[in-house]
Amino acid sequence: MGLFDNLFGGGSDSGPSTPKYTHVKIHPQVDGGIPPTSPSFSGGTLTCKCSKDPVVVSVDAQTAHNHVCGCTKCWKPDGAIFSQIAVVSRDKVSVKENGDKLEIVDPEAAIQRYACKDCGTHMYGRIENTNHPFHGLDFVHTELSAQKGWAAPEFAAFVSSIIESGVDPSKMDDIRGRLKELGLEPYDCLSPPLMDAIATHVAKQNGVLK
Ligand SMILES: [Zn+2]
Ligand SMILES: [Zn+2]
Repeated sequence: MGLFDNLFGGGSDSGPSTPKYTHVKIHPQVDGGIPPTSPSFSGGTLTCKCSKDPVVVSVDAQTAHNHVCGCTKCWKPDGAIFSQIAVVSRDKVSVKENGDKLEIVDPEAAIQRYACKDCGTHMYGRIENTNHPFHGLDFVHTELSAQKGWAAPEFAAFVSSIIESGVDPSKMDDIRGRLKELGLEPYDCLSPPLMDAIATHVAKQNGVLK
């Protein structure tokens, strides 16, 4: 194959639509293709991994800003290098069963992550600081739900942070390649709209913006 074909060709075996990085695993919810969002979806229940007396949390709305996250704080299923996490209004989140098994992972953290003491699964994260830009939103992992139709992940956050969890830096090109292939634009912080929302909140608090 010549240079022209490499640059501009669209052969069936070399087109840009042929995934190159399927060997790279991101998260079980996205590795096999991303399940579609259902426009009429209105919530469901999240269940921890305990086979006996699981914690059950009800989320009575569709989630927003779902994304995969590479930070070291978000809960990840076994073997995954990213978590998948979304937000929902905190008044839509309620503990239905076995709430006595929940404990806060780190009470000092901005996001108080409520985890099952027995299996370690994070059931929801809540911000109590009313000055925090994301106050009012809870963080949830919709993969813990048996229902289908939850908002699909839209981007990848804190991608470089997976190195802090022990991922070999030489694998980052392939990992970013796979994220792009999946349509999950990789960012090393949050996505531009969320970073803008945070900066706007800070500017309003400081009185720089009205
Ligand atoms: Zn559990
Ligand atoms: Zn995270």
